[in-house]
Amino acid sequence: MPSKFSALLEQLDTIQSLAGISSVLSWDQETYMPDGAIDARAKQSALMATLVHERWTSRAFRDTLAQFVDLSTGDVDDSLSFEQRRLIEEAYRDWRQANGLPQAFVESLSKLLSESQHVWQNAKKTHDFASFAPYLKDIIDKSKQKAGFLGEFETPYDALLDEFEPGMTSAKLTPLFATLRDRSVALLQKIQAKPAPKSVLVGPFDTDAQWNLGMDMLALMGFDFNCGRQDLSTHPFTTEFDRTDVRVTTRVHPDKLMDGFSSTIHEGGHALYEQGLDPEWAGTPLGASCSLGIHESQSRLWEKLVGMSRPFWQAMYPRFQERFPDQLGGVSLDEFYADINRVAPSLIRVEADELTYNLHILIRFELEMMMINSEVDVMDLPELWADKYEAYLGIRPETVADGILQDVHWSAGLIGYFPTYTLGNLYSVQIFEAAKQAIPGLVDQIGALQFSQLKTWLNTAIHRPGRLYGADDLVTRVTGAGLQVDPFMTYLENKYS
Ligand code: ZN
Repeated sequence: MPSKFSALLEQLDTIQSLAGISSVLSWDQETYMPDGAIDARAKQSALMATLVHERWTSRAFRDTLAQFVDLSTGDVDDSLSFEQRRLIEEAYRDWRQANGLPQAFVESLSKLLSESQHVWQNAKKTHDFASFAPYLKDIIDKSKQKAGFLGEFETPYDALLDEFEPGMTSAKLTPLFATLRDRSVALLQKIQAKPAPKSVLVGPFDTDAQWNLGMDMLALMGFDFNCGRQDLSTHPFTTEFDRTDVRVTTRVHPDKLMDGFSSTIHEGGHALYEQGLDPEWAGTPLGASCSLGIHESQSRLWEKLVGMSRPFWQAMYPRFQERFPDQLGGVSLDEFYADINRVAPSLIRVEADELTYNLHILIRFELEMMMINSEVDVMDLPELWADKYEAYLGIRPETVADGILQDVHWSAGLIGYFPTYTLGNLYSVQIFEAAKQAIPGLVDQIGALQFSQLKTWLNTAIHRPGRLYGADDLVTRVTGAGLQVDPFMTYLENKYS
C-alpha cells in the first residue's frame, strides 16, 4: 500500500470501530438490557449513529477520498492495483450512500419510521390495516423520493434494491423469478397430491437439552467460541462488533424442537462468514461481507443443504433420540425426516418450508415493484396480497395480521430487501454444488458430522474475498455461472420426488 493510503485506512477503521460500538449497544438491547433502560439506550444509539454519519460526511474524509476518486463521476485513479481500486470503489459507494440523502430528508424519514413501526405493531395486533395505511403511503412516497436521490437507475425500484444487493436489477430478477414461481407452483401441486407426513414431533422438549444440542452443533460447524458467543433473544440474529467478536442468538421453545436448532445453524452460517473475513482487510470495506444475498446463502447452505439433509440426520438423529428418549424413542428416522421436511402452503413467511418460502418472497417482490414503479392505492394492497396468495399458494389470509401486516420490513422502510432472501436460497445451492465438486466425499463427511473441509472451502471461496468482487462476479468465479434458478429447483425436485 502506498503511504497516502494510510490516512484513508485510518479514517475507515475509525468508522468501523464506531459502527462496532453501535452494534454492541443494539446486541445488548436485544439480549440482556433491562426494559427500564430503553429511553437511555435509544439516546445512546442515536448519538452513535450521528457520530458515524458525521465521519462519513466530514470534510476531512471527503478530502482524503478525493485523492483517489473523482467524487462526481466515481472514476478511480487507474494507477492503483486491483485490490486498491476495489477498496476505493467500495469506500466511494459507502460514502455516496451516506452523503446521497439531504439531512432534512434523513431526519423526516427516521421520524416517520419510528412512528410507523409503533403504528404497525398496534395495527397488526388489532387487525386494523386502515390505521397503518397512511403511514405505508408515506413510506412508499418517501421511498420513491429516496430512489431519486440515490442516482441513475433503470427504475426507481432498482435504486432501492441496489442498496441491499449491489448490482442486482429487477430486469435480471423478473424472468428468473417468473421461472422460479412456475416451477415451484408445479412442484407444490405434485407434493400436495401425495399423503402428508405424520406429525411425530410431540413435546415438550427440555429447553436446556435443546440449547446444548445447538451449542454442540455450532462447535461442529467450526464456530470459534474464542471470537464469538451465542445467547438467547426473541428473534434470532447475528451481529458482529469485529471479525474477532461475532454474536449469534437463538430461541428455544418447549414445543418447537426444530425452531431453535435450525435457527442456531442458520445464524451459525452467518457467523462463520463474519469470522472468516480476511484479517488483512479488517476495518476497510473489503473486510466486510459482499451482499445480503451472499450472506443469506451462507446461512441457508448450513441450515437447509447441510442441516435438513438425509445424511446429516442419519448421524445427528441418534443424538436427538438420546436427549429425548421419551419423545423420540419410538419415532423412526424416516418419520422424523419426513416430518421436519414437510412441505405445505402456509400464510406466514417465517414459518414456511424451503419450497414455498420463495413464493412468499415473490409475492412481496411483485407488490413492491407495483408500489414503487407505479401508482397503487394502498387500501387495495390487502386484497392484492390475498389474491396473490390464492393464486400461488392456494390459500387466502383471513386477517391482515396473517396477511400484509405480518412482516416488520415495510414499516421499517425496508422496501427492496425481500428479494435478498430468495437470492440467498438460489446462491446457496449453486455454491453447495461447487463445494461438492471441489470436495470429493463431502456428502459422506456430512453423514459423519465432519464439516471442517466444507468450512475451510467456504472460508477460501466465499468469506475471505469480502467485497473484493461483486456478488455476481463472486458466484461466477466460484461456480462458473451467475445467478441461476435451475440448480435450486433441481435440488428441490430431486429431494421431494
Ligand atoms: Zn439469515
